[in-house]
Amino acid sequence: MRLITVIVPCYNEEDVLPMFYEEIQKVMAQMQEEHHELEFELLFIDDGSRDKTLHILREMALHDQRVRYISFSRNFGKEAGMYAGLENARGDYVVVMDADLQHPPAFLPKMYNYVKDGKYDCATTRRVSREGESKIRSAFARLFYKIMNKISQTEIVDGAQDFRFMSRQMVDAILQMPEYNRFSKGIFSWVGFRTKYIEYENVERPAGTSSWSFWGLFRYSLEGIFAFSTAPLAVAAILGALTIFIALVLIVVLIVKACLVTDADLRFLTALTIFCLLSGLQLFCTGILGQYLSRTYLESKQRPIYLMRENEEIYRARVAERERK
Ligand code: UDP
Ligand code: MG
Repeated sequence: MRLITVIVPCYNEEDVLPMFYEEIQKVMAQMQEEHHELEFELLFIDDGSRDKTLHILREMALHDQRVRYISFSRNFGKEAGMYAGLENARGDYVVVMDADLQHPPAFLPKMYNYVKDGKYDCATTRRVSREGESKIRSAFARLFYKIMNKISQTEIVDGAQDFRFMSRQMVDAILQMPEYNRFSKGIFSWVGFRTKYIEYENVERPAGTSSWSFWGLFRYSLEGIFAFSTAPLAVAAILGALTIFIALVLIVVLIVKACLVTDADLRFLTALTIFCLLSGLQLFCTGILGQYLSRTYLESKQRPIYLMRENEEIYRARVAERERK
């Protein structure tokens, strides 16, 4: 038998979870019909949801032995959710997908076909359109990928998503990267292995809302840059050198002026300009250093990536206990 674990991070997804469950059940049945060796496990991660998500998961776990879940003590973010899923998955193959049906379960049979013979270690989707997304957001996303791929050795494919069908080997490789500041798009690419990209058009959410704000995404993209590139450090050094060079030229100009022009008095303005330029740049460079320092600081604390409050085992035991009384 071959076990496939489907990991689904959920944050306030009460509206779409039932729809997702229905869809995935259809796909699981279809795949089992085609491949008799397949078994499934659904591993939901409740990322500190404030709505009925946990309630729905409990119900599902009681009625369906294939359903497992981990509920966090608070919202730790999708990255932590994916990590918790990978760490607790028991499958020979592991799928990571969103609950909002933007990662269509109908792709799973196709993905399995790529991975099952060992030809590929991972199958994933790549959005070729960003339809349904705001223009500004798409423009910034594109800019991010352009910059990222210029300054980092790790290639981040534009449109690549956290919708992945992976072999056990690749999952174990990812688990060897227990870093605190996680940027999965980078991590997936960093571990290597053979990846098949399946292209598809963007799908919109049937219900609920995206929990990413513009600033949230912006911060996340900075995470990607700082986690997978040290180029900003080099930028600081280059800018510093450039400023010193400009200052030297200005000094020469000032000396020449002082010798040749008798009535021009630009000293105050020049001094002020240099002062602003230098102190501004210094602050900027220190700021960049601070980014790395703060991350080193967090990393060195070795904090857990997530904390569990409840899972399906705890809940099933509690219910069994209640029934015995
Ligand atoms: N998600 C999560 N924790 C969070 C935010 C989101 O587990 O703090 C989950 C969410 O439930 C969904 C997936 O991550 O299954 C993608 O989130 P969303 O649809 O909001 O992002 P988008 O599709 O807009 O990138
Ligand atoms: Mg979504």
